[in-house]
Amino acid sequence: MSAIDWAKVRDDFPLLRRQVHGKPLVYFDNANTAQKPAVVIDAVDDFYRRYNANVSRAVHALGSEATDAYEAARSTLARLINARSNELVLCSGTTFAINLVAYSWALPRLAPGDVIVVSRMEHHANIVPWQLIAERTGAQIRVAELLPDGSLDLDALDKALDGAVKLLAIAHVSNVLGTINPVREICRMARKRGIISVVDGSQAVPHMPVDVAAIGCDFYAFTGHKVCGPTGTGALWARREHLQAMPPFLGGGEMIKEVSFEGTTFNDAPYKFEAGTPNIAGFIGLGAAADYLTTLGLDQVQAREAELLAHFSEELSKVDGLRLIGTAPDKAAVVSFLIDGAHAHDLATLLDLEGVAVRSGQHCAHPLLQFYGVAATCRASLAFYNTHEEIEAFMAALTKVRRLLG
Ligand code: PMP
Repeated sequence: MSAIDWAKVRDDFPLLRRQVHGKPLVYFDNANTAQKPAVVIDAVDDFYRRYNANVSRAVHALGSEATDAYEAARSTLARLINARSNELVLCSGTTFAINLVAYSWALPRLAPGDVIVVSRMEHHANIVPWQLIAERTGAQIRVAELLPDGSLDLDALDKALDGAVKLLAIAHVSNVLGTINPVREICRMARKRGIISVVDGSQAVPHMPVDVAAIGCDFYAFTGHKVCGPTGTGALWARREHLQAMPPFLGGGEMIKEVSFEGTTFNDAPYKFEAGTPNIAGFIGLGAAADYLTTLGLDQVQAREAELLAHFSEELSKVDGLRLIGTAPDKAAVVSFLIDGAHAHDLATLLDLEGVAVRSGQHCAHPLLQFYGVAATCRASLAFYNTHEEIEAFMAALTKVRRLLG
């Protein structure tokens, strides 16, 4: 047991005090987006109240304060994943980050005969950009398959990574199954064969210590709103040599050194990839979120969530007719389930009336749901600020809902 007073931590999140349909909110949709601590809300508020200005463009006091805060946020975020700040491109989220790699790294390099390996458990954000690039370049997509429990089949992956493969796209943690992939081992496999690895860290960075240097990947993407930061923020980490070799993705202000009609010279990385006015307030908020999580300690967060997951799994195992989708041994606190005779949407709708927020549907992972032969699942995803009492409340709500569904 950790020494942290988790009830006090929960008090940092104003929204968690509200009621929904007259019941105390049980927010179990953290894989979708996380709630924000007051320090993040205050950081955004403070920016707009005290020093709102554009970054890198003005020499006046507000402009310098905004630029300093924005760059400080970049450094804090870089530290969160053990990276250098000149390797961190700030962008709107994982979707943007992966598209940046697809269009700037892959599009100019891939050709017919090349293969992109994508795992079966990927979010559409780590599938569709590769399909678009495959269409444009004549490269092929190859699927890395899963074992029935939702772990990646590492033997099959080993065989799939043959000489034609140029790029491997893999989730660190699955947003549907909760599976934690051994990305260090996987990226080592890829690197030994000269294959570029792109890791989707959307569901990892909020829940465990992440060290991109130790993972040994080439690119690592994550999203700010799942890390207790504002929406419309995220980052792409890349090895410096890739950033230097890649052409810009979007053109415009900030990403240039000099523009003339004879030709334009580009700014250094990471600015070369940050055209236009960024979400300044959002990144200042995200910096505050990264500070908050670092102070709490991501190892503590991970231990807390493991403890909640153990309790939740134990309770769910007592429910007749409940099928878990994703039972890998190494799992984050994301629980997808189905209940005999009940549609996932009906379950989620009725749970909402009890104050319980879960997600139902395909979770932007159609190929994964096809693998399990299901049209939709209910997904409960927990965070460190959830409580054992909320798990009890969820179970009581589920019992009631099942009775209603007959
Ligand atoms: N990958 C994974 C694993 C996700 O869970 C999500 C968000 N559901 C994304 C990518 C996309 O993130 P965003 O919409 O913030 O770009």
